[in-house]
Amino acid sequence: MQLRRGTKQTLAESKNSGLNNEQKELEFFIRRSVYLCIMPNTVLYLVPTPIGNLEDITLRAIRVLGEVSTVLCEDTRTSGRLMQHLGIKKPLLSYHLHNEHQQVPRLLDRLEKGETMALVSDAGTPGISDPGFLLVRECLARGLGVECLPGPTAFVPALLKSGFGAERFTFEGFLPVKKGRQTRLQQLASETRTMIFYESPHRIVKTLGQLAEVLGPQRPASVSRELTKLFEETVTGTLASLEADFAARPTIKGEIVVVVEGNLAPPVREPRPGREDRYHRAADDDELAGDD
Ligand code: SAM
Repeated sequence: MQLRRGTKQTLAESKNSGLNNEQKELEFFIRRSVYLCIMPNTVLYLVPTPIGNLEDITLRAIRVLGEVSTVLCEDTRTSGRLMQHLGIKKPLLSYHLHNEHQQVPRLLDRLEKGETMALVSDAGTPGISDPGFLLVRECLARGLGVECLPGPTAFVPALLKSGFGAERFTFEGFLPVKKGRQTRLQQLASETRTMIFYESPHRIVKTLGQLAEVLGPQRPASVSRELTKLFEETVTGTLASLEADFAARPTIKGEIVVVVEGNLAPPVREPRPGREDRYHRAADDDELAGDD
């Protein structure tokens, strides 16, 4: 059975199939049930909001925020201001890192009863270094439909403005503050893809210094600050030069994304063995084979 995009098309198809009415009805019922199982009705919308410039809200985001019954917000005051700017009045409900575990079961009950909700974060795409994952996972586990609208997020403009390869990249988000920080940094030493980090202004100098220690001071990198805002800047250089630049500033304000070029140095090869070495290697290989 081939599934088309909606139930209207499948009904039209069954009209011309040469089946009797009862068979047509049964076929339509089966097609519709399978379609609804595969495409559950959306109850939760992840709605990206601007990371600075309010013009970056999409038309679809505005429509969805106006259509859902409740908007889940990381901070109801921040999202309240955006909703006011958009001229949309909706009940706002607090959903953040510190209450998501309590909120999820209550929200699932309401969503299962047919409410529709939009999840927004303070800025950018919910679920990207922001709460969202838990609710999405539980909705999907219960067969509730989740839709994520494309829209603003800080790492995409930072990646593209860095000028480093964007064919393959790794989004690292925030590095662990204490435990696991060094381990994570060490794991990235041989990373060949472009790396993206979120960072706060008061930790940026320390992070650039540590990245320089582990990845090498000459590794090309960029720092994007206040993307889409009035004082937006992107500085590109080496990790060492960026550390010096930011360390010399009397104050560092705003939100920051660091992008670091991957390790492009060819892997270190062992020197080709000379004749004598080759002989020894062959003998070693024979011994190893004998181990089997
Ligand atoms: N959900 C957001 C997204 O989709 O990008 C990220 C939220 S995370 C809590 C906040 C971090 O995102 C900031 O510390 C900064 O690293 C980055 N960020 C957000 N807005 C930014 C902006 N306008 N310019 C630079 N970085 C930004």
